[in-house]
Amino acid sequence: MVEVTVNGIKHRVDDNITVLEVCRSLGIDIPTLCYDDRLEPYAACRLCVVEVKGKHNLMTSCSLKVADGMVIETHSEKVMKARRDILDLLFSNHTDDCLTCEKSGSCRLQDYCFEYGIEKGSFFGAKKDYPIDDSNHFYTYDPNKCILCGRCVRVCSELQCTGAIGLENRGFDTKVVTPFDMGLAKSKCVSCGNCVAVCPVGALMPKRKERFRNWEIKKVKTTCSYCGVGCQMELLVKGEKVVGVEPIKAAANGGLLCVKGRFAYPFINHSDRLKTPLIKRDGKFEEATWEKAYRLITDKIDNIKEEHGSDAFAGLTSARCTNEENYLFQKMFRAVIGTNNVDHCARL
Ligand code: SF4
Ligand code: SF4
Ligand code: SF4
Repeated sequence: MVEVTVNGIKHRVDDNITVLEVCRSLGIDIPTLCYDDRLEPYAACRLCVVEVKGKHNLMTSCSLKVADGMVIETHSEKVMKARRDILDLLFSNHTDDCLTCEKSGSCRLQDYCFEYGIEKGSFFGAKKDYPIDDSNHFYTYDPNKCILCGRCVRVCSELQCTGAIGLENRGFDTKVVTPFDMGLAKSKCVSCGNCVAVCPVGALMPKRKERFRNWEIKKVKTTCSYCGVGCQMELLVKGEKVVGVEPIKAAANGGLLCVKGRFAYPFINHSDRLKTPLIKRDGKFEEATWEKAYRLITDKIDNIKEEHGSDAFAGLTSARCTNEENYLFQKMFRAVIGTNNVDHCARL
């Protein structure tokens, strides 16, 4: 443990953490654009700067480890001016599209500009003029909105472990090299969208069939139904319709999803989707209540068991069920029906 003074108050803190982690644990809000607690500190956006007594320059709190006796100011006049200047520079180099940008309402740059009173960029001639790349099936990249925080590149390399994108050039010409620049056929990109999920601004955006504002949707936490990993995610629901998916940082998936969990949700609203059980009569399916369907199933189970015994049954379950559902299924087959003839599609 070490003793540090933050904004005039002394604290004893762990000696192997950063100043940013200390401040966040104390409830002190420090703005960040490039920081992600799952990634190595990058110190690119520099918004997290703080004043440290005895140091001439402001220090980036995300990459600075605490030391015994450290005296830190997180919101001094010098710090606030530096953050305003950084936001001013970022916005000068950025489109003024907030009115029509789909990220509006959940954009970190917009939020910080509001908080720090940046109404427009005061450095003229710094706007970019790149074409928007929409050649990927699932998302678009607008380099004019990219603030070069590097989160997409680092997530793809450090967490997704694909390394499909990178930063190219230097200074004003710096830009994310996307899978599309390389030609989709040659790209290693698996379209998981994990880069899209961490973009703090509207540069990487999912392609949406339905446009919505962030405040129009409700988020419903659920488990992905595509395999047994159990990734946690939130369905974005507008009215009665699922219009998007976002990953959650949970034990099973740590804020990552694969392409199916992230983008293959339109089946939920598909018109062919069954909403009631169907019973086949005279070669034709007819809608039925759950009570009638269950009665038919249990009657048939009883009859077959009586006539042919328990081993006349075999149960095949699905990777689209949760582990808990699969457990219940095998339990029902073994304990209720009385057979070990149980298998799972993931084994075939
Ligand atoms: S990315 Fe953010 S700051 Fe940029 S136009 Fe969109 S909402 Fe505005
Ligand atoms: S979609 Fe996935 S694999 Fe492709 S660039 Fe983004 S993080 Fe990397
Ligand atoms: S595309 Fe988004 S996440 Fe990637 S560097 Fe640009 S702003 Fe950051």
